[in-house]
Amino acid sequence: MAILLEGRLIAERIKEDVRLKALSLKTRPSLASLIVGDNQGADSYAKSQAKTAEGLGIEYQIYKLPSSSSEDEIIGLIGELNVNKSVNGIIIQNPLPERIDYKRVIFSMDPEKDIEGVRPGNIAEIIAGRAKFIPCTAYAVMELIAASKVSLYGKEVVIVGHSAIVGKPLAFLLLDKFATVTVCHIGTSQAGKLEDHVRRAEVLIVAVGKAGLIKGEWVKEGAVVIDVGINRVNGKIVGDVEFPAAERKASFITPVPGGVGPVTVAMLMCNLVEAARLQHGL
Ligand code: NDP
Repeated sequence: MAILLEGRLIAERIKEDVRLKALSLKTRPSLASLIVGDNQGADSYAKSQAKTAEGLGIEYQIYKLPSSSSEDEIIGLIGELNVNKSVNGIIIQNPLPERIDYKRVIFSMDPEKDIEGVRPGNIAEIIAGRAKFIPCTAYAVMELIAASKVSLYGKEVVIVGHSAIVGKPLAFLLLDKFATVTVCHIGTSQAGKLEDHVRRAEVLIVAVGKAGLIKGEWVKEGAVVIDVGINRVNGKIVGDVEFPAAERKASFITPVPGGVGPVTVAMLMCNLVEAARLQHGL
C-alpha cells in the first residue's frame, strides 16, 4: 500500500517558511489578484488565496473589472500594477472572457511580478535554468516528489498532459534532475499508446482533467504517482488516476483533494515573497 503524500502537511511546512520570510521584510509583501467579470470559480479561488495570504502576513488585494472590459483596459490596469511599488506580484485569475487574448494580457505583466510564472517567455527561462518564477503547479509537483525522497536521477518519468503551466515546464525541470522524461498528450491516447507509457513509469505525473483516465492496474509496482487532475464526479472531487487500485501498486501517491492543490497555493505564496525580496534587492 502506498504512502500518502499529504499535500496539506507539506504545504504547512512551506508556508511556515514563507511566513518567516515575509516577516523579515521591511514592508508587508503584497499580491494583486485581477478578476475580469463575474465567475464563481475565480471568486472562490481568490477568496481562498486571500485567506492563506492573510495567515502568512501577505496583503492580498482583489482588482475586479467588469466583463465588458476591453483588452486595452485590462492591459492598462496591469500597466498600473506593474509600476505600483507597493504591489510585489500579480495574478490574473482564469477564466478571462473568451474574446480576450489571454496571451497578450499575460505578456503585459512585468516579469518581476509574474509570480505564477505564466508569461510565455518564462518557459524559455526554465530551459535556460534562469526562471525567476517556476509555475506554481509544476513547482508543487517537484516539491511533492522531493518530499517522497525518491531520487529522480535516471528514473523513467512519464508526464500525462502537456499544458504550458504544468506538463511542459515540468518536463524541463525533471530533465534538470537527470530524469528520463516522456510527455504524453491527446495524440498519445489517440494512438492507443498511453497505457504502454504509463506502465513503465517509475514516476507518473498526470495533469489532464479526466476522471479515471489512468487505470490503477496500469501503475507500475512501486511507482511514485502525482495526480494533478481535479474533476467533480457525483459531487465529489477526484483526480485523473483511479485511486484505490493505484494506491495498492504505488510506493507514494498524492490524494485528491489534499495533494497537489494545497502545495500549489503554498508555492504561489513562496514565489510572492521571493518577488518581494528581489524587489527589495535582497
Ligand atoms: P489543460 O486543459 O491546459 O491541459 C490538459 C492536457 O491534457 C493537455 O495537454 C491535453 O492535450 C491533455 N489531454 C487531454 N485529453 C487527454 C487524453 N485523453 N490523454 C492524454 N492527454 C490528454 O489543463 P491544465 O494543465 O491546466 O490542468 C490539468 C488538470 O490539472 C485539470 O484537471 C486542472 O483542474 C488540474 N489542475 C490542478 C491544479 C492544482 O493545484 N491541483 C492546478 C492546475 C491545474 P491537448 O492539449 O493536446 O488536448
